[in-house]
Amino acid sequence: MGIPIELHITFILLLMLVYYLWGIGGFILYVFLFTSVVLHELGHSYVAKKYGVYIEKILLLPIGGMAMMDRIPKEGEFKIAIAGPAVSIILGILFLGLSNFMDFNILKIDNMVYPLFMTVGVLNFMLGIFNLLPAFPMDGGRILRALISHKVGYIKATKIASTIGQYLSFIMLGFGIISLNIILILIALFIYYGASQEYSALLAYDVFNKIKVKDIMSKNIVSVSPEDSVKDLVDLMFKYKYLGYPVIKNGKLVGSVSFDDITNVDENILVKDIMTPPVIVPEHMDLNDLLLKINNSETVYVVDNNELKGIISKTDVIRILKLLGLKNNYK
Ligand code: ZN
Repeated sequence: MGIPIELHITFILLLMLVYYLWGIGGFILYVFLFTSVVLHELGHSYVAKKYGVYIEKILLLPIGGMAMMDRIPKEGEFKIAIAGPAVSIILGILFLGLSNFMDFNILKIDNMVYPLFMTVGVLNFMLGIFNLLPAFPMDGGRILRALISHKVGYIKATKIASTIGQYLSFIMLGFGIISLNIILILIALFIYYGASQEYSALLAYDVFNKIKVKDIMSKNIVSVSPEDSVKDLVDLMFKYKYLGYPVIKNGKLVGSVSFDDITNVDENILVKDIMTPPVIVPEHMDLNDLLLKINNSETVYVVDNNELKGIISKTDVIRILKLLGLKNNYK
């Protein structure tokens, strides 16, 4: 599907630990289990791609896999969410069926024998069922949100699925502490964190959506001409202390120069020889989209009707995010 699959370093360390503790049998089981996890994530990804979602990569961590998507479209959320558990349950059925005909007793822990296919089948079943729990951050949380959001609204639906996730984590934590099960305690903490994250991410998204580029751009435009030299630019930087400047020719934005472009450059070189193509955004773009744009460049230029209206630097954005945090504290 053209999606890179990455193994996080902690995943590989755990693989080594499993090999150390349970030998080659544990190693093989681990590989089968995480191949199943990849197939689960590919299930989500396959459906998501049909909705035009861009999937950056699938990342494998010791706690499971993650398909990193740029967004989850509301109209496709139900199908995208259910595809993963569906793959796991089908794999569960296939492996359990297969174990009726052939299996390998590769692993023995505390005198318990774990046949490979049967264990992989049971684990896939558990993975599928666990992920159908109607709570964030499990897939079931998304399924629940998709089912109830047209009745109670998207934000309320998210709040409900997050709250169920938090209660679920308290119950698991209780059982974990009573039975002194460290894995259960870790999963409980992971769920609590994930459930809270999902809700605050949505709130932030909602706030950011209302903030437009034109509200935060700086209208003080200090520009340079393509024929200016690097020396002129350095003088300007000392005077205004900005790190990025638009290059204007005949009233049109033709390039961008920043502090990074002039390090190790002779002072007689002209701006036009070192300028880079400007990153342009429209006035009405919201903060969510701006954050994606400004990720790769120090400065973005606000252009409407071919006219440069304002400039936004990374520092401006960080300042806005800090102020929004402050506003949140005093609500
Ligand atoms: Zn999933």
